[in-house]
This record gives sequence, structure tokens and C-alpha cells, in this order.
Amino acid sequence: MPTVKGISPQSASLSTESPLSAGLYVVGTPIGNLGDLSFRAVAVLRGSAVIACEDTRVTGNLLRRFAVDRPLVAYHEHNEREVAPLIAEKIVAGEAVALASDAGTPTISDPGFRLVRECRRRRLPVFAVPGPCAAIAALSASGLPTDAFLFLGFPPSKTIARENFLRQYGEFPHTLIFHESCHRIEKFLISLVAVFGEERVIAVARELTKLHETWHVGPLGVVHGDLLRFPRRGEFTILVAPKNFIL
Ligand code: SAM
Repeated sequence: MPTVKGISPQSASLSTESPLSAGLYVVGTPIGNLGDLSFRAVAVLRGSAVIACEDTRVTGNLLRRFAVDRPLVAYHEHNEREVAPLIAEKIVAGEAVALASDAGTPTISDPGFRLVRECRRRRLPVFAVPGPCAAIAALSASGLPTDAFLFLGFPPSKTIARENFLRQYGEFPHTLIFHESCHRIEKFLISLVAVFGEERVIAVARELTKLHETWHVGPLGVVHGDLLRFPRRGEFTILVAPKNFIL
């Protein structure tokens, strides 16, 4: 097999005939568009002894679409302390375990960190099977600076805490990235205006990769006004440009 620079034929292989070596495989799954599940992700899911996932119904539905039939084990924020060591024991016993979340990359505002840390503490192999990630997808298509950025996840839900939190980043010289739910997007934008002012450039990415993907990019005052005219349903990722950035 010809080699691509830096990629061994072994690691580039999509074959499911040779069993996966023991380890934890952190698998990115679609954030909306099923076409974004990689060939390698499907091969790894098929080749795993067990798939640890946030919600067995959600991942079960995805797996059925790709004819993957493997046992699922629930691994979520309410049981991860107990389940992480049990999964690590499976890897110690020589099994390949895949980790998936409901959508996107596990551990990024999703469960998985404790399991990965548990494996690293025990010196067990952990492999990345990269795939969609809303924060990176939004950044890459936003037009805001990408050379350096800070991912801040979900902001605090209470107004005072949220605005105090945001104030820490008023002078931050790189792009900020946030997740926010559709129920709080409007309050979040009001807080952004209060802290960063109407001239600050932002990008709001809604329903990335889905049929109704929508973008609003421009000064906060304008984007806020625009958003009020659109349905505030679906999933939102918000990026804030550094001060004085001109689109
Ligand atoms: N681990 C996921 C990832 O890698 O993208 C993120 C999971 S986090 C619980 C869910 C949040 O990600 C949503 O509330 C939203 O802020 C963002 N998100 C997920 N899918 C999205 C999409 N299709 N478009 C825009 N934002 C999205």
C-alpha cells in the first residue's frame, strides 16, 4: 500500500478484518449531518468490543444507520466516576473500547474526560478518532481570527455570574468560542453587548451541517438585532473576535 507522508499503512487502514488493538478509541460523531461520520470512525466502532456512550438510545440510532452492531454501555456525567474504572479494566483485559457522545467530539463539553484520564493514569493506550466538533467547525468557517483562540464552553446561566465571567476576557487578544442553548441565546447576546459593546465583531453559527445552517457575522449590535428576527431554535455556537478586529 502506498504511504501518505506521516501515515503508516497500518494506521490508514479502514479494514475491520484485523482486530483493533486494545485501548480506548475517542470517536467523533456527526453534529447533524450523518455524512460527516468518517470511514475510520465506522471501522473503529465496528471493531470495538464495546461502545461507551452518553445515551444508548442516541448512539444506538446512529449505529443502526451504519449497520454497526456492538454492545453499548452507558457512560455519562452521572455515572462516570463508577463506570470509568470498569471500562479501564476491560482495556487492561485486552479489549478495544470506543467512546462516543451524543454528537461531536467526546470530552468537549461532553462526558469522557474522566475515562481518558483514568486510562492515561494507568498507562493504557488512548487513540483519537477525530471527527466533527461544533467549536472548530464554527471557527473554521467564521472569518474570525483562527491563529489562536480560547474555547470557554457554556457560559454561566445566571446574568450576574455570566457578565462577571465575560468581563475577565474583555481584553483577551484572541477569538473566544462559546456554546449556548437556544433557551439562553438571547440573554447571552444581551450580556455580550453589555460587556463587549455593540461594535465588537461576533459570529453566531446555528445548526451547523444541518439543513437550516444559518450564520450571522458582524458587529454585536447588528447581529443581535438580526437574530431577533430569526427563530431562536436549534443549536448555537458563538464566537467573539478580539477588540479592534475589523471583518
Ligand atoms: N462535544 C460536542 C462537539 O464536539 O461539538 C459539543 C457538545 S455540547 C453538549 C452541545 C453544544 O455544542 C450545543 O449546545 C451547541 O452550543 C454546540 N453545537 C452542537 N452541535 C451544533 C451545531 N450543529 N451547530 C451549532 N452548534 C452546535
